[in-house]
Amino acid sequence: MKVLSETAFISGKYAKEFEESFAKYIGANHCVAVANGTDALEIGLQAIGVGAGDEVLVPANTFFATAEAVSNIGAKPVFVDIDENYYNIDSAKIEEKITPKTKAIIPVHLYGLPAEMDEIMAIAKKHNLKVLEDCAQAHGATYKGKTVGTFGDVATFSFYPSKNLGAFGDAGAIVSNSKDVADKARLIANHGQPEKYKHNLVGRNSRMDGIQAAVLSIKLPHLEIWLEARRKHAETYNKLLADSGLIVPIAPEHSRHTYHLYVVQVPNREKVMAKLAEDGIDSGLHYPIALPFLEAYADFGHQPSDFPVAHSQMDKILSLPMYAELTDEMIETVCRSLKNAVALTATN
Ligand SMILES: *Cc1c(COP(=O)(O)O)cnc(C)c1O
Repeated sequence: MKVLSETAFISGKYAKEFEESFAKYIGANHCVAVANGTDALEIGLQAIGVGAGDEVLVPANTFFATAEAVSNIGAKPVFVDIDENYYNIDSAKIEEKITPKTKAIIPVHLYGLPAEMDEIMAIAKKHNLKVLEDCAQAHGATYKGKTVGTFGDVATFSFYPSKNLGAFGDAGAIVSNSKDVADKARLIANHGQPEKYKHNLVGRNSRMDGIQAAVLSIKLPHLEIWLEARRKHAETYNKLLADSGLIVPIAPEHSRHTYHLYVVQVPNREKVMAKLAEDGIDSGLHYPIALPFLEAYADFGHQPSDFPVAHSQMDKILSLPMYAELTDEMIETVCRSLKNAVALTATN
């Protein structure tokens, strides 16, 4: 109501308030509130000097926006296969993709699990590459005790309503410890203006709405409770599925997985999904087609053997219901239905 009565619709006081509290929560020096997570990626890449003709390393399995942002600023996404157990970029396969044109790596903390940042930062340092962390699915996840978004040169977040911290519409943020990077991002996101009608560069319009910022500021103090609830639900799922023979998510000891998604691997996936739906249980696919095999990147001519892990998991991964408000009874129902569906579809 204050946003409305003060007509603080675009950026302004409430966005600034959120920027300060979110930077503090992440443990970074600067936060720039923008219109959505995809814009955050594009602007974040530009702010660290990535542009036309550069190559950027991107995991083969992530949401499309990670690669789309690279393409939209005139750079080229170069895909790297994912790790078999953790679904994140396989750091052992990064170096073979580096060329003289490589400018940056985008580790995505997929499903809420931090990518292996020590290894990634060491490779970046050795080859003089920039690092942008795509934290859209991992607000508050930690790697060796440090919050994701504080390792690379810049990090981006999405507050799309279904994310672990969600607004009531589109919203995103860019986080950095570097004042220069944050200043550049803020300039780009606001028509290149350090002050009104002084345009220092050709930027764009990507600012957070005051209403979204106010919603996020109200929700942020609850985030830790919601993340802990998700972690508890994942434990309950793991326990109930221990005798199922299905591959359930695991996390290294040094990481705090925040379970934006709880992804299992199942045989006969389409049939299993249909059975779950018959029982009134929604499930999802993240993602049904790995990025190198999407029509948008058909020109790259990638073959399944180029990304054996991402390709082989495409038709097995299944995202089960996961949100803070789940109850143990609901998880029990999902697991019962899932085990039933797997058994039934194995025989016909
Ligand atoms: C959601 C998401 C984005 C894009 O965020 P939007 O706010 O929807 O633009 C980018 N990367 C990943 C990994 C995502 O999950």
